[in-house]
Amino acid sequence: TTKTTTHEFQAETKKLLDIVINSLYTERDVFIRELISNASDALEKYRHESLTADEPFDGHVPLEITIALDEKEHTITIADTGIGMNRSELEHNLGTIAHSGSNTFLTHLAEAAKKDVSLIGQFGVGFYAAFMAGKKVRVQSRSWDGSEGHEWVSDGSGTFSITEMEGLRRGTKIIIDLKEDAHDYAQKWMVESIIKRYSSFVPFPIKLEGETVNTVQAIWTRNRSDITEEEYTEFYKFVGNASDEPAYRLHFSADAPLMINALLFVPKENFEMFGFGKMDPGVNLYCQRILIDQHSKNILPEWLRFLKGVVDSEDMPLNISRQALQDNALVSKLRKVVTKRFLKYLDEEAKKDEEKYLEFWKTFGIFLKEGATSDYEFQKELGKLLRFESSKSEAGKPVSLADYVLRMSPEQEAIYYINGPSRVAIEAGPYVEMFKKKGIEIIYTLEPIDDFVLSHLGEFDGKKLVSADRADLDIPQTEEEKSEEAGDAADQKLDADSTETLVSWLKETLKDQVKDVIVSKRLVDSPAMIVNPDGYMTSTMERVLAASRV
Ligand code: ADP
Ligand code: MG
Repeated sequence: TTKTTTHEFQAETKKLLDIVINSLYTERDVFIRELISNASDALEKYRHESLTADEPFDGHVPLEITIALDEKEHTITIADTGIGMNRSELEHNLGTIAHSGSNTFLTHLAEAAKKDVSLIGQFGVGFYAAFMAGKKVRVQSRSWDGSEGHEWVSDGSGTFSITEMEGLRRGTKIIIDLKEDAHDYAQKWMVESIIKRYSSFVPFPIKLEGETVNTVQAIWTRNRSDITEEEYTEFYKFVGNASDEPAYRLHFSADAPLMINALLFVPKENFEMFGFGKMDPGVNLYCQRILIDQHSKNILPEWLRFLKGVVDSEDMPLNISRQALQDNALVSKLRKVVTKRFLKYLDEEAKKDEEKYLEFWKTFGIFLKEGATSDYEFQKELGKLLRFESSKSEAGKPVSLADYVLRMSPEQEAIYYINGPSRVAIEAGPYVEMFKKKGIEIIYTLEPIDDFVLSHLGEFDGKKLVSADRADLDIPQTEEEKSEEAGDAADQKLDADSTETLVSWLKETLKDQVKDVIVSKRLVDSPAMIVNPDGYMTSTMERVLAASRV
């Protein structure tokens, strides 16, 4: 009695299948990458679960991926001995797009269509990519829970069926009947070259027609001097699902306070900048080369979500569950150590090659600013990495706070900044007059978030960060200014009585629109300016908050 049930694909899945079958055929090779990546995920899941299971089904079967080709029948078969799927998992996982890969793909597709179509490859199409090359796809699977096995069959046109099947071992076998124009995928050289390109770093043996075609050793545990640039780049593309080259790379190991092997990459492109929405974290957490947490939200702070790579620590308990990772003390410690190490690395790189660092800053600076406003733990390190334009910088060439401090005169106690929409607007305004006259450098914060960053930071290198629109701004006069005041310039000033009259008239006239009117020594050429009474929030911050309240 073999029960067969037939199911409709969910509407969203049909949409995806239609795109996969009719529009993505130029990127066909990726279906092999997607299926191998699923096989690898299934093996990782099994390896992790089996650590704590009493007697997993087929516990003796080796963990591997096998690929068989049939040039006569025009089929390619990709099999793994991973976690497998039971009946309801087959129905749900291969019938909807509730799972991450395809879902992200779909939500990004509309946006990508408006932009660069080649970016689509960044997101991975998922299981349904099988229909790029297959006219019919069969999935035979048996779960590690030992329940009976099933075969899932579909031609991708709207429905799929599931039938019980006897004699299956643990894991999943995917048999693809190739389309007429895709028969090449049954050729060994073709499949081998695709595996070499996309899947060299899969941490399980991939056996193609009986021969292992990948190196299984985890690259991050190898000696730095034994790894070539190409291997690093290939690994970056693999782990980051990327097609560009990394801008920065940090490979380090530590023994104290924790055992760590980490390999981190900064990409060239920031996909959030292209309007792709918030990205998932790109660093995976391993323990003794066993994947514990993919795209880990725990191993690095959220504002480092643009990093790709791997953190492996032998100190992590292997059997830790995903949920337990969240508030695990060891994980927080790891996060702290790895984050500090990475920020230190960036600072060193900036010192080596500021030009290159500024490229990075243009693309990813926004993430570091996010960190500086949200995370007190790394403020000191982040402060060193910030860059702003200033009255002494060239336009478009931001400088560091450390450079600013180096240029400060011994009498100057604070670091000053002022917000404005552009350099030109700031330099034409009244706030910088006195700074110009005294030759004091002032930072231009050209983005609204900048004021939040600097006010959160509070100080840098022991110097207070002060917004120049504060009412109580008090900068001591230089000797020169004092004598100037006593001399000619004083002749043109209003006498005390007239000043008093003017102030009361202004107060009368402006009434509730201002808190106070005071006489200032700050102005040089402008007759008046508006300042910020409480000195806590800058006027820009108030504007941003007011706008967000609407
Ligand atoms: P993703 O891999 O991003 O989750 P996919 O579309 O590639 O999305 O796969 C969908 C789901 O189907 C997976 O999340 C997994 O649950 C299941 N799946 C796919 N291939 C396998 C496999 N070889 N073994 C076990 N489960 C699989
Ligand atoms: Mg997948």
